[in-house]
Amino acid sequence: MTDIQYRLAQKRQILGTFPGPKSVELDARRKAVVAGGVASSVPVYVADADGGIITDVDGNSFIDLGSGIAVTSVGASDSNVVEAVREQVGHFTHTCFMVTPYESYVAVAEELNALTPGTHQKRTVLFNSGAEAVENAVKVARLATGRDAIVAFDHAYHGRTNLTMALTAKAMPYKRNFGPFAPEIYRVPMSYPYREESELKGQDAARRAISMIEKQIGADAVAGILIEPIQGEGGFIVPADGFLPTLAAWAKENGVVFIADEVQSGFCRTGEWFASEHEGVVPDIVTMAKGIGGGLPLSAITGRADLMDAVHPGGLGGTYGGNPIACAASLAAIKTMKEHDLNGRARNIERIVTARLTALAEEMGDAGIIGDIRGRGAMMAVELVKPGTANTTKEINAEATKAIAAACLQAGVVILTCGTYGNVIRLLPPLVISEELLTDGLDVLCEAIRKAA
Ligand SMILES: *Cc1c(COP(=O)(O)O)cnc(C)c1O
Repeated sequence: MTDIQYRLAQKRQILGTFPGPKSVELDARRKAVVAGGVASSVPVYVADADGGIITDVDGNSFIDLGSGIAVTSVGASDSNVVEAVREQVGHFTHTCFMVTPYESYVAVAEELNALTPGTHQKRTVLFNSGAEAVENAVKVARLATGRDAIVAFDHAYHGRTNLTMALTAKAMPYKRNFGPFAPEIYRVPMSYPYREESELKGQDAARRAISMIEKQIGADAVAGILIEPIQGEGGFIVPADGFLPTLAAWAKENGVVFIADEVQSGFCRTGEWFASEHEGVVPDIVTMAKGIGGGLPLSAITGRADLMDAVHPGGLGGTYGGNPIACAASLAAIKTMKEHDLNGRARNIERIVTARLTALAEEMGDAGIIGDIRGRGAMMAVELVKPGTANTTKEINAEATKAIAAACLQAGVVILTCGTYGNVIRLLPPLVISEELLTDGLDVLCEAIRKAA
């Protein structure tokens, strides 16, 4: 992992007090004007970012193990993206694709139709956010099938709009008191291997979900099954082998649209273009956002041509959907992903992270707090439990999780947490991070885990 040129020095450095005086001042200004409902996990304000480094207004340099929640996979100032954006912004910033169309939108659609799983005829629509992509996938599934019900899963996260709140599982902070929610959403159990009461195989976990669907909704009332192939906010839960293919096969047999929400897991994040590929699943519709645009707001749905083209002209769209600057950035980001084989880099990150965390778990032994190490590619997680319960009662350790994230930050490493129970540390480094920087970040993380135990 040495072939990438960086603009900023790739080195962690914390100077003096933390957060520094300029960040403290900005935070005071923010508190007076920005709504309290928008929370930031890190109390420093950004000045610059490149590769695996974020620098703040006080001159501190942090190792980025979050990528702005899996967005800046190519880095936050990838030269291909920067050049493409500069070029586009000098010509036109917006015309609205629904009024006067332009080539880059078509070129992004061509890329997505080629990159998403399956060789069937496909069509693509572009939007702005992940939630908007999910909403539109649901619109297409309902219109194309003439059915209402949408199946979602325990621990699911699909966004913060009204429909996507309904699809999301966790009440706090996403749903509580924000209802009433959109109807005709049904929730069924996920395959969560670490927390399954008995060793439930993927096929059996899928049959458990299917039986609920058939009994509680009826197969012929279901428009779509919506699932994250690896759950993101819910805890980086990787379902047991066979779970996704069994669900997809059932969907096919029953005329149900299988929608893979790859907003977080897509675009090389898991070591493949899409996480569905790890099990050879070919979704009917794929939702994409986050890593798609090199940091610019862009999202998409790509699906079977017969489903997508069932919608009447004017039924899909939006003022900003497929903005030309975002499209230029996306084409450039995809170019970088190919040029630098970011899938290969993601798989290398998986090897490095797995080796380090597994060694730490062994060192800590049965008395340790590492319950589970899981994930794929550069979407890896550690689930933390109370000391000595990793193989028995698996008691949630949200306190340690918080303490570890805070300790990492103090030492100059930005790390995110997640999980229905708030006890998962998740690693989402930019795929362009250098091996040296990643190793330094993991040193800090391992030390923080030892201290918390
Ligand atoms: C982040 C996320 C969303 C929502 O995306 P936004 O761009 O925040 O609206 C939807 N689905 C998944 C799986 C996500 O991780």
